[in-house]
Order: sequence, then C-alpha cells, then structure tokens
Amino acid sequence: MLHVGINGFGTIGKRVADAVRAQPDMTVAGVSKRTPNFEATIAHDRGYDLYSAGEDGRAPFDTAGLHTEGTVHDLVAASDVVVDTTPGGIGAKNADLYADHDTPAIFQGGEDPGVAEMSFNARANYESALNADTARVVSCNTTGLSRLFAPLRERYGIEKARVTLVRRGGDPGQTSRGPINDTLPDPVEIPSHHGPDVQTVFPDIDIDTMGMKVPTTQMHTHSVNVTLESNPSATAVRELLTAESRLFLIPETLGIDGAGKLKEYTRDAGRPRGDVWENCIWAESVTVEDNDLYLFQAIHQEADVVPENIDAVRALSGRTPDAARSISRTDEALGVGRGLVQHGGSTARRTADD
Ligand code: NAD
Repeated sequence: MLHVGINGFGTIGKRVADAVRAQPDMTVAGVSKRTPNFEATIAHDRGYDLYSAGEDGRAPFDTAGLHTEGTVHDLVAASDVVVDTTPGGIGAKNADLYADHDTPAIFQGGEDPGVAEMSFNARANYESALNADTARVVSCNTTGLSRLFAPLRERYGIEKARVTLVRRGGDPGQTSRGPINDTLPDPVEIPSHHGPDVQTVFPDIDIDTMGMKVPTTQMHTHSVNVTLESNPSATAVRELLTAESRLFLIPETLGIDGAGKLKEYTRDAGRPRGDVWENCIWAESVTVEDNDLYLFQAIHQEADVVPENIDAVRALSGRTPDAARSISRTDEALGVGRGLVQHGGSTARRTADD
C-alpha cells in the first residue's frame, strides 16, 4: 500500500483524502490542517490521523479538543507521497519541506508551474510523471480542457483552439468571493492565463482563452471552438468523446439545461457531495462546420482534479507504469462514470478491464 499524506484539508484536500481511501493500493497516512475548524472535525470524524500545520503547532487543536498525531513534519516523514492541497501560493512555500524529507510531492493548479518538474494531466502526459519527485495537477479548468483536447489532438489534430471560460465566482464555502450581482470579464486581459496553462500540458497547442466570472458557485461552463486539422462528422466526434471515461456526453433526453440540474442529477445518482468528476459536454452542442468543432462543457471545479491527483500519486510512485491501467483503477474505485446515462447508450459502468 502507498501511504499518502494530504497537507491542507479543504475543498480539494478532503476529496483527495476520501478518493485515496477508496483505492485498493493506497491508504491515507494522515491529513494536516492549519486551523481546527469544521473541516478538522470532519477529518477527525472520518478517522484520518490529524496533524497540525500552523505556526502555533498542536496547541490550537488541543484547545479545540482535537487530538493530533504530530506536526506536518511528522506527516511528511510518514508518507510515501504527499499531496499538497493548501491554498494557492502556499504549496511553493512547502516545497522545501518535501524535498528535505525526500518525499515526492504533488502540487495543485493554484501554484505557478515552476513549483514542480511537470504539469500533470493523466490522459495527456501520465508517463512523463513516472518516478518524478514533483508534479503539479493543473487547475480545474485546465484539467477540463486537457481531457478534451487529448483525444481530439490524437485523432484529428488541432490547428487552433479558442475557449471562453465562464467561471463560477467562488466555491459554496467561499463566502467572501463574488461577484454577487454582476458579470465580469476576468481577467480583462486577453488571453487569460488559462491558455498558457494548457500549454504547460500541450506545448504545441495554439490556443486563445477569454475568462469571465459570474454569480454562481455551481460549476464553470466552457464555450469551446477547436479548428481541427481534418473535418470529421459531429457524430464521429461524439463517438470519440463518449469513449473517454472522464468525459460525460449529456444526452438531450435527460433535459439537463445547466449546472443546477447536473448537480442535482449527480446527487440523485448518489455521488459523494454531489461531485461531478467528469467533464459534462452537452451532446447536442457538438457541432462541426468545415474544420471547426464547437461545443459547451461544464466543469465541476471542486471535483474534476480529484481523480487526476490519484493518478499523479501512482505516477510519482512509479508502481503503475501504464496510464490506462491507473486511470481505470482510479475510476473504478471512485465511481467515475457510474450512475450516468451516456449519450446514445445505457448507464455507464466501466470496469477496471475496460
Ligand atoms: P481551501 O482553502 O478550500 O483549502 C485549503 C486548506 O489548506 C484549508 O483547510 C486550510 O485550512 C489549509 N491550510 C492553509 N494554510 C495551510 C498551511 N500552511 N499548511 C497546511 N494547510 C493549510 O483551498 P482549495 O480550494 O482546496 O484549493 C487548494 C488548491 O487546489 C489551490 O492550489 C487551488 O488553486 C487548487 N484548486 C482549487 C479548486 C477549487 O475550485 N476549489 C479547483 C482546482 C484546484
């Protein structure tokens, strides 16, 4: 079993911890928190060994009546791989800690790309992370675009991509974020940082991106135009995308018109926290005009990077050299695809051998 430590038990960290626990070849070495807030009590209630990461050490947790096993140094020492899920920018400050313990570390998309040896997406470049000391799982938006571009690039070639990202103002727990009642070009500069971030995964893709922020906490929505190097039919593109385990083509018959119903659907399907690990592509939006492909996809910012972190752990450990093997193992244990009716077919239930 791989012992995985999770430093930072917030939106992403708690989901990664639960996903690690679900894997047959991994166990949670422990989780660390800076403050003894409600998420620390959740960690405790779920039976994760809790470590303190703040300057005041274990004292604030003692005061809150929460037992800790030690500090974050002890957690890193006890881990085969650490997943750093601290807020953006803090991961870079933790890099020396992981290096000092010679513990391979995975950072998140809120960090600059230079924090790690490579920017990771399982479908796009798993093999490049094998036995690496560090990797950065790219952001929720870049993950969503990388999963989409990987099969398109392989099958048809990509001449140019143009994407408008309509981003949620904040996560449900981020009460200080906004806008509350506005539609913001964000960032105003073009291209937004998303295009260059995609190029950390696919250096050869010509891409322009524009970002916006809107008053929702549900999901991001991408308006995608990809100029392909060939001109497949829309049906062929739908078939190609349907075959990808982390892409969900929303059938028209489901009557899902936005992120609200999508989240309701996955809650009804029994997903933990209503998580949507897959890119959700409206099947009827997939349109091809000459070489230009158009589609809309929704990305659940709190969830899509979670399976990618699990694959990154396997890649850094070097124990599973094959990307497809790791992806199917992660998906099976987590339930990716489970409970969702696929475009043109029945409810997806992929197995480890698919
Ligand atoms: P979060 O604020 O929800 O959680 C961060 C956790 O780290 C909190 O529990 C906090 O108490 C803890 N923490 C703060 N400082 C710490 C420190 N010094 N040591 C240990 N723990 C510390 O943040 P998040 O949304 O989970 O984001 C984590 C990373 O994932 C960021 O890089 C972010 O950009 C990236 N990311 C976030 C999302 C998203 O939508 N939330 C999506 C993809 C990637």
